[in-house]
Amino acid sequence: MQKCERKHSRCSISNESLPTRVIDVTSLTLRLVESKPTSTGTYAALSHCWGMCRSFLTTRSNLADRKSGFNIDDLLATFRNAVLVTKSLGIPYLWIDSICILQGDKEDWEIEGSKMADVYSNAYLTIAAANAAGDAEGFLKARKPEKILPVDIRFASSEKNIDEREIGIYIQPRCQPTTVYEPLDGRAWCLQERCLSPRILFFDTNALRWECIEKGWFEAGRGFKRQRLIVQEVIPRLLYNGTISYIGWYNMVENYTTRAISYPSDKLPALSALAAYAARESNDKYIAGLWKGDLRRGLLWCRQVRRNFRAHEPSKPFEDVRKSLDTAIAPSWSWASFQSAIHFTVMDPSSTDLEVLSCTNVIDVSIIVPGKNPYGEVASGYLIISAPLISFATDIGWDTTDVSEIAVNRAWEHNVLLCPELEIDISVESSFDHPAEIRCEVFGLPLTFSVDTAGNFYEEGDHIGRIKGDGEGWKIVHGIILCRKDDGGDRDCYVRVGCFRIHPVRLSDFMARVTEMPRRMVKIV
Ligand SMILES: [Zn+2]
Repeated sequence: MQKCERKHSRCSISNESLPTRVIDVTSLTLRLVESKPTSTGTYAALSHCWGMCRSFLTTRSNLADRKSGFNIDDLLATFRNAVLVTKSLGIPYLWIDSICILQGDKEDWEIEGSKMADVYSNAYLTIAAANAAGDAEGFLKARKPEKILPVDIRFASSEKNIDEREIGIYIQPRCQPTTVYEPLDGRAWCLQERCLSPRILFFDTNALRWECIEKGWFEAGRGFKRQRLIVQEVIPRLLYNGTISYIGWYNMVENYTTRAISYPSDKLPALSALAAYAARESNDKYIAGLWKGDLRRGLLWCRQVRRNFRAHEPSKPFEDVRKSLDTAIAPSWSWASFQSAIHFTVMDPSSTDLEVLSCTNVIDVSIIVPGKNPYGEVASGYLIISAPLISFATDIGWDTTDVSEIAVNRAWEHNVLLCPELEIDISVESSFDHPAEIRCEVFGLPLTFSVDTAGNFYEEGDHIGRIKGDGEGWKIVHGIILCRKDDGGDRDCYVRVGCFRIHPVRLSDFMARVTEMPRRMVKIV
């Protein structure tokens, strides 16, 4: 911590203003302090898994008691541990969400929730109770030193040119931040806390771990470079060639959607602090988990198949990932509407060169935010896109009544749609969000294209009889699958039900076909 404070210019806290409420830990009796907007000070913030046991929550009715003072023994184990760590590091204040935000008070929660970016990014230190699945557990536990301490193996050599001295090898367990998945790694709320904190002290199962913006250290002494999941990597940023990269954001969202969340309606709020920070820094407009500056790429997400899930991901019954339009927590085109892990096409190693199609333009996008946090819950929203709509034949050759896990994963990944309208020799691969949605009439809205590496390879080998190219090369066209919103009204109102890719295509052939098709004003809700 001292090394970081003295030597790391990027880690220094530029804004020392205190959160609205903090716990004063300087005396034996702890006190909740309400700060003024001008108050400054040094504080630690706690990142923790709440777990099942909830006690000592601050509410509007007990606020006065909390301010007059309370005993450390009144707190759950994780909070007692956090007070102890804060005190022993000489930090005067501690911020814990369940004590410093009024619980059960929607207005206070929304106001304080929208300030969460500042709470974590201005904290002198974030204490990560990584090894505790719930607040009753505590994180200062006995550890197993044999799991982290290096082993010195010495042996003598029989070779003559090596003198009598002993030589040895020094073996240390492979200490990667991802070696052990801690309970904290699986919780959705904790991702933004991690990204926003300039300095984090992790209390892992086997060791202490330090991560600041510039460096990371394990307790056994080995350092590592902190590369991902820091806010600087997540913000949309201008590249040297004048384009803006959103890859860091998409990478973070993929990680986020593998994490567990207790209430589906928290899906966007639990990311809102990070979104607020990124919007402020990038000047881009944040729309239900996506960015206005990159919508045509951002709309291309699909369900991540189960095999890619991380080991800790709790198994989700198939029914739970179903999108229900009645209880939608985001528009159907937002990844936040889908209650399981997603994958962005632009994150495919073969599709990083995703370019937008000139035939498709975003005309308007709008969302309705019901609460006080502009980056939080979304009540509804629409997207109006000017594009040709491709009709897909729904005879896809698999049993849509079979909704077993295996059948569904297979269908999501491999079913092939027929596309008579385009009349070119192509295959359409589709990934449906839910197999029931496959039964309705479906349309393809093309968004982007990328180089078809495999298609060009075959062409060179010439073993599928394709004529040598004209230099244009084979491409893959990517888009989303829509079906009409079933409300009997607007025929051009659709919902997203999946995504597709058409390949291999010559872009000039494809564009010639779609240019002949009528351009539609498509509203997607
Ligand atoms: Zn540092």
